[in-house]
Amino acid sequence: MKTVLLGPPGAGKGTQAEHIARKYEIPHISTGDMLRQATKNQTPVGLEAAGYIDKGELVPDDVIVRMVKERLGRPDCRKGFILDGFPRNLQQGKALAHTLDELGTDLDAVVYINVPEHDVIDRLSGRQTCRNCGEGYHVKYMPPKNKGVCDKCGGQLYQRTDDNAQTIKNRLEIYRQQTADLISYYDSINLLVEIAGDKTIDEVTKEIDARLRTDLRQP
Ligand code: AMP
Repeated sequence: MKTVLLGPPGAGKGTQAEHIARKYEIPHISTGDMLRQATKNQTPVGLEAAGYIDKGELVPDDVIVRMVKERLGRPDCRKGFILDGFPRNLQQGKALAHTLDELGTDLDAVVYINVPEHDVIDRLSGRQTCRNCGEGYHVKYMPPKNKGVCDKCGGQLYQRTDDNAQTIKNRLEIYRQQTADLISYYDSINLLVEIAGDKTIDEVTKEIDARLRTDLRQP
């Protein structure tokens, strides 16, 4: 299963991507996570990306495309993958098509989680992540058992620096400007599977499973 997950920041892409990755036993490739890891490790890509991430702007396409190309070329992606956070604009979408063509493969589906903007702001402002294992939580919708502590590994939870009011506004603006064309593109080539994301996590998961089963006739 070779899939892309689209949707605004805070749509729950990370959570749903984890589910799809487990179910189909494929790697979950989050460009946001890769960049945050690179920033933490102070690699050249990480140092370049940090300024863009903090402002809520997109990292230049060539940097991202190179990073994704390298990742998709690894053996664990042969069986499939779920891309989360990439592509984010039409140019990246075309670059992905080109990369997959070079690898002799193609996408099976593009799952688009559609969430109204007011829900997105509410979700992003309460989002928390484990500093140690990266597990995601929400103070209201998915709280940890113990405040500030990861259920999975006991690590400390933190709020992403780009989940603040001004940066959220920028990220949504960029999403609005750049992703609409990408959604139309995938729709025009019959890859788009649109899911209403203004529901509980479990309901969205069930809907994705059902749609992937019927639309793709996969297990
Ligand atoms: P995310 O975790 O997907 O919300 O991404 C966090 C930040 O990483 C974004 O606001 C961008 O600055 C950067 N980023 C992640 N993926 C991409 C991408 N495909 N293209 C450009 N920048 C990206």
